[in-house]
Amino acid sequence: MLEKLQEILNSAKQTVAQIDDKVALTQASATFLGKNGALSGLMKGLRDMQPEERRNMGEQLNELRDTLIKLFEDKEAEINHNLLERKLSSERVDVTIPVHPKEYGCMHPIEALKKDIIDYLITLGFELKDGTDIETDMYCFEKLNVPKEHPAREMQDTFYIDSDTVLRTHTSAMQVRTMEAQTPPIKMISAGNAYRIDEVDATHSPIFQQLEILVVDEHVTLADLIGTLEGVVKKVLGEKTEIRVRPSYFPFTEPSVEIDAVCPKCGGKGCSTCGDTGVIEILGAGMVHPNVLEGCGIDTAKYRGFAAGFGLDRLAMLKYGIEDLRDMYENNITLLKQSK
Ligand SMILES: [Zn+2]
Repeated sequence: MLEKLQEILNSAKQTVAQIDDKVALTQASATFLGKNGALSGLMKGLRDMQPEERRNMGEQLNELRDTLIKLFEDKEAEINHNLLERKLSSERVDVTIPVHPKEYGCMHPIEALKKDIIDYLITLGFELKDGTDIETDMYCFEKLNVPKEHPAREMQDTFYIDSDTVLRTHTSAMQVRTMEAQTPPIKMISAGNAYRIDEVDATHSPIFQQLEILVVDEHVTLADLIGTLEGVVKKVLGEKTEIRVRPSYFPFTEPSVEIDAVCPKCGGKGCSTCGDTGVIEILGAGMVHPNVLEGCGIDTAKYRGFAAGFGLDRLAMLKYGIEDLRDMYENNITLLKQSK
């Protein structure tokens, strides 16, 4: 009987030594320790033994069972360890291999310019007001002193959703809404898309970006307007940029002015960018027309205001030397990187 035990132990050791995966180990474990395994067979034989012999054999069998359990447990630990080793070596990361440098994006030139101007104006105490692209005829035209049949409507012809609803031709509608909602002093910026019926070419587009400012307060003068705008132009085109102010006409301002900057490309000598004039039109502005203020319930005996509007597309073309407006909307990566 004792030889039989030794035989089982030797056989188990031999079997386990040849195993290197978990499935085979589980099977082998069942062969020796399972319900119908070798050990179980011997256990059953105890029933027929004399008490003395049974106790003795029982002890031997228990000892063998513990030895076998340990044998299989040790083997399982060894297999797990080898598996982990193999996994680690196959998944090793070589941190010394050079990586491809990541391409970082940048802001679109128009957006970068808009942000620059807004940041500057905020330091002067302006606040940014958000408006909607779809406006009513009332806020886009009527309340800005442009009644129906006014000739200015021709220049600002836009897209009609119905007879009273339009895509805004300027961001000025937000100025009206702010004046109606807020008592002066008002110092606001409105910026975003504006729409007009226009053919697409190198300098025109039916959709463009506008940024407008409005100030309403006591004692506001044309000098405040010019000073503020000179600051913006210098911020965008450089500290040395000089501006020229000349009279103009807009229905919603009186007096109205246009502000030109000395051409940043030729410095005033004349070139293709400025059409040999040495200056470039930058924006239109003026003192808010009393009709507009009164239409918003503002006391014109006490308050005056100034307003100005920039075409951001044109200004971005000038700042970044972009010659064709369409390039800015055609995902030309090389061109877009100029504002980086
Ligand atoms: Zn020039």
